[in-house]
Amino acid sequence: MKRLVQAPNTALAHLWTAQLRAAGFDVSVQREFAGGIAGEIPVDQALPEIWIMNEDRYTSARQVLEDLQNLPHRRWHCPGCGELVEGPFDQCWNCGADRPGAFL
Ligand SMILES: [Zn+2]
Repeated sequence: MKRLVQAPNTALAHLWTAQLRAAGFDVSVQREFAGGIAGEIPVDQALPEIWIMNEDRYTSARQVLEDLQNLPHRRWHCPGCGELVEGPFDQCWNCGADRPGAFL
């Protein structure tokens, strides 16, 4: 059993866990209720964690998590210059054009 990731909140921990399980990974949420005593222990030790049972699958589980964190709509082709823009950007890094649908 190995710690996969620390989630910023319980809701996200459960979302990631559900999606990892759907992808076939045996994972569990740890310290889910530690938030209740936040203030008595350091904040970074009060956050929920996701642990994977089979350490051999750690790397592929991390890849799934990274895909989850890079939401599909954050990968787009610039209408101005055709660049592929990845990450949390609403403007093209190359020419400054707005992301299609950015203001919808
Ligand atoms: Zn552009």
